[in-house]
Amino acid sequence: MAGGGIGGLAATFALARQGVPLTVIEQAAAFGEVGAGLQLGPNAVRVLAEWGLRDALDAVAAWPEALQVRDAARGRDLGRLRLGADIARRHGQPYACLHRADLHALLLQAAQQHHGVQWRLAARLSAVSERSDTVKLTLDNGDTLVGPALVGCDGLWSRVRHAVADTLAPVPTGHVAYRGLVDASTLPIALRAPRVQVWLGPRLHVVHYPVRRGEAFNLVAVVHAQGGAPRDAQNWSEPASRSDLQAALGEVHAELAAWLDAVPAWTRWVLHDREPLRGPHGMAGGRIALLGDAAHPMRPYLAQGAAMALEDAWTLGRLAADPALPDWPQRFARYAALRWARNAQVQRRSRRNGTVFHARGPLRWGRDTAMALLGERLLDNAWLYRGPGDV
Ligand SMILES: Cc1cc2nc3c(=O)[nH]c(=O)nc-3n(C[C@H](O)[C@H](O)[C@H](O)COP(=O)(O)OP(=O)(O)OC[C@H]3O[C@@H](n4cnc5c(N)ncnc54)[C@H](O)[C@@H]3O)c2cc1C
Repeated sequence: MAGGGIGGLAATFALARQGVPLTVIEQAAAFGEVGAGLQLGPNAVRVLAEWGLRDALDAVAAWPEALQVRDAARGRDLGRLRLGADIARRHGQPYACLHRADLHALLLQAAQQHHGVQWRLAARLSAVSERSDTVKLTLDNGDTLVGPALVGCDGLWSRVRHAVADTLAPVPTGHVAYRGLVDASTLPIALRAPRVQVWLGPRLHVVHYPVRRGEAFNLVAVVHAQGGAPRDAQNWSEPASRSDLQAALGEVHAELAAWLDAVPAWTRWVLHDREPLRGPHGMAGGRIALLGDAAHPMRPYLAQGAAMALEDAWTLGRLAADPALPDWPQRFARYAALRWARNAQVQRRSRRNGTVFHARGPLRWGRDTAMALLGERLLDNAWLYRGPGDV
């Protein structure tokens, strides 16, 4: 397993519980996640529940009652989706919001309970080569490892990808995400409602939602990049200021401004993606498979990148337990066949949502009208939330 992020730990857990012995190679010297939030739709919550991790999720997540869409300049209500018990009734599981570090820690703890996993930290993979019945990995320090298969969970800038799909670099989307975390106790009571709130404006949107059982709120503002783009494309957490964000956002509604003012420290992150998958060959070949962002990075406008990594891991775990698939090339071929089209659809829909969220002129008018007329039918993604589908 190359990479110990959310996808790598989920896959480690999914395979280890089937008795697969494995080694996790992670470049960081210690496990950890940078501070930011994640939304998990019912499809991702279902994966964690089926793994027996629902209690662990309950201990760290917030369960918002609704998703509310508003106009960033005027504050007008544009649309609303009932979450909580309502979405659980519709799709079998509720909608969760949590801190990335909490999900990461939950998966790490679950994976560490299984014997047969070796952990190698401060181990950076630099090259991969496949032979007829083994895969050879070379680390930066010159060490080599040989095993029967490799799962590349090494994220957006994946090295493993070079051995499977292509050697192309991810492409900047032209959007920059500003992120911050607010302690709920510092917010006026009126702002503490357990809601996912999405503010839409021309060439921008802002999302905030509760994490840590409502003890904190996560904010993400995405704007089209203007001068002063972040220097280090791979840095998830370059410090940024409220005035940088103000310059990018322009005037916003007073309530949204109050949210932005409450954030004690901002970081920013230049967003990248890749073209949506075009076939199973983008996810696996022979004894090497890709999982999560290594295979299908996506824009964050459907809030499903980590969710798709969890679904990939769940699928891989099920296939490892299938006696009809005794060898890795067969398992990986089936995995890629099962996963690629759904991942590609989520990548495409995420892009389309970005266009719609940031719309100007007639498209914006059409969006607002459609939301007023169709309401929940437009916001409820049944095809997505009922996943991950059968294996
Ligand atoms: C602004 C924003 C908001 C988002 N919000 C959501 C959301 O609400 N819901 C959601 O589901 N998703 C969301 N996502 C997407 C989600 O964050 C990612 O899809 C998810 O974290 C991908 O996990 P991963 O394990 O594939 O990759 P990563 O989390 O990037 O993990 C890769 C791991 O591999 C390690 N690594 C990399 N290279 C090497 C190497 N050469 N050798 C050894 N180790 C290596 C890294 O150190 C890291 O630990 C969001 C993304 C953005 C940008």
